[in-house]
Amino acid sequence: MSAEKKPGIKKIKAAGAMKKLMADYFLELDEAARTGSAKVAWCTSVGPAELLRSFGFRVYFPENHGAMLGSSRLAPELIPAANAVGYSPDICSYLTSDVGSYLRKRTPLTDAFGLEGVPRPDVLVYNTNQCRDVKDWFGFYEREFGVPCLGIDTMRGIGDIAARHLDGLIQQHRALLPDLAEIAGRKFDLDRLKEVVASSYRCTQLWKKVLRLAEHKPSPITFFDGTIHMGPAVVLRGDERAERYYELLIAELEERIAAGEGAVPDERYRFYWEGMPVWGKLRSHAELFAGLQACVVASTYCNSWIFEAMGASDPFEGMTRAYTELFIVRSEKFKEQYLADMVRDYDIDGIIYHDAKTCPNNSNNRYGMPERLDLRLGVPHVVINGDLNDLRLYSEEQARTQFEALVEQLREAR
Ligand code: SF4
Repeated sequence: MSAEKKPGIKKIKAAGAMKKLMADYFLELDEAARTGSAKVAWCTSVGPAELLRSFGFRVYFPENHGAMLGSSRLAPELIPAANAVGYSPDICSYLTSDVGSYLRKRTPLTDAFGLEGVPRPDVLVYNTNQCRDVKDWFGFYEREFGVPCLGIDTMRGIGDIAARHLDGLIQQHRALLPDLAEIAGRKFDLDRLKEVVASSYRCTQLWKKVLRLAEHKPSPITFFDGTIHMGPAVVLRGDERAERYYELLIAELEERIAAGEGAVPDERYRFYWEGMPVWGKLRSHAELFAGLQACVVASTYCNSWIFEAMGASDPFEGMTRAYTELFIVRSEKFKEQYLADMVRDYDIDGIIYHDAKTCPNNSNNRYGMPERLDLRLGVPHVVINGDLNDLRLYSEEQARTQFEALVEQLREAR
């Protein structure tokens, strides 16, 4: 497609405020790491960030850095450095690109925010709710930096969540307290934890509202917008600045709805994206779908930062349940019902499954789910082969052909 023919991507005006907020977040982290004004904790993306914030840690998320390595397209040139020290090309490409970034001393944080490198941690805290890779990832930095690596080991494939699942996990959260207090140099403060969890809950409700506005036709926001604007919910949940940002974004999206403006001009087809984004192709995907009058209105990925249970009166139970009832932790049966609900709520015409080569945990096409859901819902699907960060595993041409074929199928059926 020539440059002149590229469909206009409708810009979100609040993006400027988000960039400023993200810059403040990284500059504060950098200042803390350089001066020692606050301790720095590294946390997995759906790890116990609220607990860490309640102790006064500045919280850094390596997966967010992984996504930046993907979207900046630095990942493919950095991954081989991690492969060379024994981290397989077949494991998580967030992990390999982040380790490669560390080994090669290159980070997109330099161009984006002027940081020399990622903020040095005082402690590493993981939750294996999403995968084992995060523990191995943090294990690398435990050896490199010689700092404690603590965490929570969560079971996977859960259907209904019962007390037998939660009790032990709550104990694991509580067991972190003495070590975190010692590293932070301050006592655990239950009231502060309640405040942080309450803020996190308000943030998650606002983020949910952002995503649910996409139920409107035309949708005021796409999945590709969502992957960018979820930044504050990922790295600043529990900090009231994230709440203020989503209030601003919601107001803008509601204005679009009131004016009848869609994120995609002349939206005709509505898709659901299941699996990881292809970070280095967000813009070209956004343009491709817009050119097909198709809007990817919802996704499992963006929904993963909706933590309903965070509203529980007991903050330990709230955090634990929230980080256990995630889609990625659940059984196939649960996931199928979840996707069926999404298809109904967002009036989805087709489902796109991304089979991300290095993330089996977020690739839900490998055990017959698309075929079962086709039969159950009568909604067509495509499976694209690719990866979250390693663009060497992705064929633009092949994916384009598949997207176009899906739209053609829908056009013929109308
Ligand atoms: S869930 Fe996938 S992308 Fe996320 S850390 Fe684990 S392997 Fe990597």
